[in-house]
Amino acid sequence: MTTVPEARMSTAWTTPERLALRESVTRFTQSEIVPHLPQWEDDGRLPRELHAAAAKAGFLAVGFPEEIGGAGGDQIDAAIVSEAIIEAGGSSGVIASLLTHGIATPHIVDAGQADLIDRFVRPTLAGEMIGSLGITEPGGGSDVAGITTRAVRDGDHYVVNGAKTFITSGTRADFVTTAVRTGDKGFGGISLLVVEKGTPGFEVARPLRKMGWHCSDTAELSFADARVPVGNLVGEENGGFVLIMQQFVNERLGLAVQGYATAQRALDLAVAYAQQRETFGKPLITRQVIRHKLVEMRQRTDAARAVTRNALERAAAGSTSDPSVILDAVLAKNTAVEAVEWVVNESVQIHGGAGYMRESEIDRHYRDARIIGIGGGATEVMKDLAAKLLGY
Ligand SMILES: Cc1cc2nc3c(=O)[nH]c(=O)nc-3n(C[C@H](O)[C@H](O)[C@H](O)COP(=O)(O)OP(=O)(O)OC[C@H]3O[C@@H](n4cnc5c(N)ncnc54)[C@H](O)[C@@H]3O)c2cc1C
Repeated sequence: MTTVPEARMSTAWTTPERLALRESVTRFTQSEIVPHLPQWEDDGRLPRELHAAAAKAGFLAVGFPEEIGGAGGDQIDAAIVSEAIIEAGGSSGVIASLLTHGIATPHIVDAGQADLIDRFVRPTLAGEMIGSLGITEPGGGSDVAGITTRAVRDGDHYVVNGAKTFITSGTRADFVTTAVRTGDKGFGGISLLVVEKGTPGFEVARPLRKMGWHCSDTAELSFADARVPVGNLVGEENGGFVLIMQQFVNERLGLAVQGYATAQRALDLAVAYAQQRETFGKPLITRQVIRHKLVEMRQRTDAARAVTRNALERAAAGSTSDPSVILDAVLAKNTAVEAVEWVVNESVQIHGGAGYMRESEIDRHYRDARIIGIGGGATEVMKDLAAKLLGY
């Protein structure tokens, strides 16, 4: 398999520590993930033990500060973990599920409440708990400011009523960082509450079956007079929207990484297949039309990687509330979506009928890639945001 030659990377990505991180995640993926992935895809979920094993291997908590149980590092280190998992034969579905805490816990870390960090963040980073992020509702996901799940204060509790849907790791989650309406209409009336599994009135309404990300469980959740302690409020009451928006930058960059890494893997698989498959008496790779296609796959993958890595470097060096960093993340996500959707499609084509078979790896990447342009802010919504930031 070809991989990105190290010499072509900016030096930020090739420090001895980061090369060692990539190497160790690659080894873990090859031995602990790849052999079991087909079974987990059939099961519709990852085993809980994988979280503990990834924590023990030292990469579950990469990107989180050591003071709160993290392994240290920044957005670049977190991206290296994702790149290595996918490029070693894992998948974006594995990342969505194994690393769901990457979207479920940062708000708690940012708000800085020691009690919530001790109860939820530390055990999750140690691989002992699983957390989810519950924002999207059956009535809509793009319009975050329009959520309707209501939390009404009653003494020392909030009484929560409503529903969430498409929640990653939702069937396994020990807690859900949940967006609720505590105030008036609009973005100023939203809070984040940590709702724990076992809270009476809080239930997994149903597991959801999907086109891709089969190893990542997804749930619809229901809240019927669920009483949540006031102590589980993340940050200030009605201050949830800002916390959510700040974290969207990292979520979008994470999805962009999944996009270009999946494109790279799809290209690697296509090259390997074209080298060994013979048609009309000659290896497929000897045909100019195939070689040109492979080069175009490489071009688009490299472009998406360059734009995303630039955005990651800027995010790591600056602030995720800087409008120019927000813009970079949005443009990177859309660029990576375009690249991966085109590249996985061409890779299936080069594989011919074999690429359409469930047993082929490219079939999985083809299906998995489709979510990247929908989750964490769909492409159209990203374009609207970019236009606003650019003043168009
Ligand atoms: C596998 C999977 C996992 C997910 N995991 C989570 C999770 O863990 N937590 C969570 O909270 N959510 C999760 N989501 C939800 C995801 O974030 C939403 O699906 C996404 O934000 C889009 O919301 P929606 O599906 O309600 O689409 P809608 O908001 O109904 O939009 C439908 C389409 O219309 C477009 N559109 C919307 N508004 C406009 C407009 N003004 N102009 C032009 N076009 C527009 C959108 O781009 C989209 O293409 C997940 C979704 C999936 C499929």
